[in-house]
Amino acid sequence: MTFDEAIRGKKAALIDMDGVLYDSMPRHCRAWSATMRAEGIDVAPEEFFLYEGMTGSATINTIMQRERGITLTREQCRSIYNRKSDTFLSYGEVEMMPGALAMVRRLQEAGMVTVLVTGSSQAALLDRLEREYPDAFPPHRRVTALDVVNGKPAPEPYLKGLEKAGVSAGEAVVIENAPLGVQAGKAAGIFTIAWMTGPIPAAEFEKAGADLLLPRDYFC
Ligand code: MG
Repeated sequence: MTFDEAIRGKKAALIDMDGVLYDSMPRHCRAWSATMRAEGIDVAPEEFFLYEGMTGSATINTIMQRERGITLTREQCRSIYNRKSDTFLSYGEVEMMPGALAMVRRLQEAGMVTVLVTGSSQAALLDRLEREYPDAFPPHRRVTALDVVNGKPAPEPYLKGLEKAGVSAGEAVVIENAPLGVQAGKAAGIFTIAWMTGPIPAAEFEKAGADLLLPRDYFC
């Protein structure tokens, strides 16, 4: 099946941000690793590719549980997450994902409603959306970490996305680059496209239940 066949007859596309609209994952992983090292915990940057899609708190507590057998409070998590965000920003501006604008335009030309569904609350990237993806993700068509209790891989972010799009699960597609995000899309009952923009092998996306796999250069 091609991308065009997958979106035929669909009314909305629910689209992830990091690793889909922005090529930000390598830097997120480096920033996470540096922040955890400052907490006295050594975690290789690559490990964070697998946590992509989780909220910051879930990521922090997955590691805290494993390394120290503790769960941090919301405030403690927020403080660590803020430091991770500052570190991420200190690396400079991330690039748009090559081909992402072409993909979004294809969806818009097909008459589909586009909705952002991200586990991030990274203000710097959210601010750029309006400029770099014109008319695609206005504030009322965004689901961020601030809007959900249970982040990906739970279905909640994508269920909220369906609400914002005003469509049912059968009328939408999800576009994701992370296995946990694919799981979330499938748990919400939505046709889920895995755009494999990072180093994660195809088998991980198949295991997560992806309906269609696309290589990184698909839209270039
Ligand atoms: Mg992503």
